[in-house]
Amino acid sequence: MFTRMLKLRLLNAVAPVYFFMATAVTNILHFFFFIPTIFPYPETSLMVSSTLHTVLVLFLMFNALGNYIMTIIYPAESANETLIPVCSPHCSDKVDAHYLLNGRHFCKLCKKIILKRDHHCFFTGNCIGNKNMRYFLMFCIYTSCTCLYSLVLGVAFLTVEYSISFENPLTFLTLLPLSVCSFFMGTISGLQLFLVLMLYVWLGIGLVCAGFCSQQMLLVARGQTWCQMQRGELVRNCSNWRANLKHVFGTRWILGLILPVQTEECSEDADGQKQD
Ligand SMILES: [Zn+2]
Repeated sequence: MFTRMLKLRLLNAVAPVYFFMATAVTNILHFFFFIPTIFPYPETSLMVSSTLHTVLVLFLMFNALGNYIMTIIYPAESANETLIPVCSPHCSDKVDAHYLLNGRHFCKLCKKIILKRDHHCFFTGNCIGNKNMRYFLMFCIYTSCTCLYSLVLGVAFLTVEYSISFENPLTFLTLLPLSVCSFFMGTISGLQLFLVLMLYVWLGIGLVCAGFCSQQMLLVARGQTWCQMQRGELVRNCSNWRANLKHVFGTRWILGLILPVQTEECSEDADGQKQD
């Protein structure tokens, strides 16, 4: 148990560092390699395309980082000071959390009582609950979009700079092993191998984020949390999916889709307890 907790704490410290490093590398590649190489000439048409791509990258990055910060600023912890944490008889004493009698959770990593806990996110080092679920979902969506868009520009860069053709659908399957072999034979540079590796990193993160976000969105629409799903609990709330989404995304949800700002006052503890 002690070793598993130690591993989780290590993951909690390493994952945010990995996220910031990946973000920094992606930014450098976009602004110092991809855009200047793909749109090299100061012609009017290319200037417009270059500006559009720059604005799009900045928009995606701003929303991904903004929602990441908002997930941390608005933690899912309970503000109810009078709450006495008592373990439920059904508490499975999981490695990362206790299930409390009052329907809440005590996260052993955050060391806090969490309001309507969904799961502990290692990339933000925080628990996800009803207060920060919207920011977390938007963070996943924009991270996925940023990665998939970086993949597209990365492919365009490799085509322009290294004349790699992606017309054959099998190219992507054989690219990594062939690039590794070519690197050790000294026929390609370390930068080219690194860029090929980044293509797979972006594809992996983009697809994982999109899949995870879709599942979370489904749970939110059903008014269910990840914890409840894992315990096999049936959803007891009678709200329809529109009301459940509105509860998480707020009344000004359209604004929340394009900007990482608060769209509604945080739900009261009582509200969260009622729905737990
Ligand atoms: Zn936690």
